[in-house]
Amino acid sequence: MRTVTLTAPDDFDGWRDAARALAAAGVSPDKVVWQVGEAASDLFATAAPLATSPVPAFSVPRPFIDLARKVVLAAAPERFALLYTLLVRLRAEPGLMEDEADPLVRRLERLAKEVRRDIHKMRAFLRFREVEDADGPRFVAWFEPEHHIVRANAAFFVDRFAAMRWAILTPELSIHWDGKHLAEGPGAQKGDAPDGDPVEDVWKTYYASIFNPARLKVGAMLKEMPRKYWKNMPETALVPGLIAGAQARESGMIEKARAAVGGNVAASWGALREEATACTRCPLYRDATQTVFGEGPLDAAMIAVGEQPGDQEDLAGRPFVGPAGQMFDRALGDAKIDRARVYVTNAVKHFKFEQRGKRRIHAKPNAGEIDACRWWIEQERALIRPRVTLLLGATAARSVLGRTVTIARERGHALDLGDGGIGWLTVHPSYLLRLPDKAAAAEEYGRFVAELRAAWALAV
Ligand code: SF4
Repeated sequence: MRTVTLTAPDDFDGWRDAARALAAAGVSPDKVVWQVGEAASDLFATAAPLATSPVPAFSVPRPFIDLARKVVLAAAPERFALLYTLLVRLRAEPGLMEDEADPLVRRLERLAKEVRRDIHKMRAFLRFREVEDADGPRFVAWFEPEHHIVRANAAFFVDRFAAMRWAILTPELSIHWDGKHLAEGPGAQKGDAPDGDPVEDVWKTYYASIFNPARLKVGAMLKEMPRKYWKNMPETALVPGLIAGAQARESGMIEKARAAVGGNVAASWGALREEATACTRCPLYRDATQTVFGEGPLDAAMIAVGEQPGDQEDLAGRPFVGPAGQMFDRALGDAKIDRARVYVTNAVKHFKFEQRGKRRIHAKPNAGEIDACRWWIEQERALIRPRVTLLLGATAARSVLGRTVTIARERGHALDLGDGGIGWLTVHPSYLLRLPDKAAAAEEYGRFVAELRAAWALAV
């Protein structure tokens, strides 16, 4: 048995180095004990011989590294062992990360999702109180994270409060910023942090600067916030004004995002996609596995907008990979459209379903959910600026046009989107899958292909 002792609960580098050495030595996951503490690691103690034959070096896919960086921060004690098990399995099954049904991959994805939420909560709900010491004002906050996220979040607070002297106290450790250097101290207790009102001006400025309409659930904001965080929130006074200016701010944010990355659409899109992983703008994030963002070329002349991810998309984290997506691919092929030239996305980014026994049955998103999620599709379109936005069904139409449509009346026509782009409405491919009559299905499929072809002709 090998024992690996990591220096801290969030010691990703230590885990990675040990896991790499163990995997190269052919050590089975059930022969490794992972622990955190002071004791020296006996990774290569000679209690049992290591594999003697050299094991060829191997690389792991980038998504695994990204997943591991998050999962290591989770509170679950078994996280190191689970990650090592996945690492070992990846050697024999290089495509395992794409296996949405694999229980281990799913479990680790769930842990990563919990960590991302905790990181977001700390950024959104932590509050500073002002104290005075010999060097002047200092700002102290108390926070109780659910996972080991404090170090991973430190750079965020340094960035936002670079000019202040501050400390964040948590039960596990404390971090201190003196305006130049970040230092760590031991864990604290709630009583170590000052009581009283949070610092209103600091928070109003901060909140206004980070305000993101994507995270705002108008009329439900305070209800949605975990109760332990939202008492004494001075920024709530700002909310009505921020809501009123939300529209202008949204387009401003897009331009700002473009400018911040020197007009680099790929970087803006990457930041947007990352931001969407933590979206809690409507309740659908709670039950779904993950946000399913759009994908495809960022200079696409045509964007196809579907309704929402299905069961398979939810597990895979990719749009249009389930049965309806396959039907769509087939129709694009028959319309002589290169699928690789079309950006595909959904009006709603989380899977809505009803659980019936072990099955998850698709449920239609309601108007509130569609409207809440419009924030993302608008930004995707603003970044890509497609000539044609293909609206696959009524949900996509409501999202992009902002109104209810009758498909039979408006399909197959160019619709002015008011921003220089053209909307083109047709049915959702899942409709074609549901038609029971074979002759009717074949006829509808032919019409669908013809409409795709017509839309493409406008785009290119
Ligand atoms: S469905 Fe859209 S708005 Fe709702 S939580 Fe998911 S990404 Fe956010």
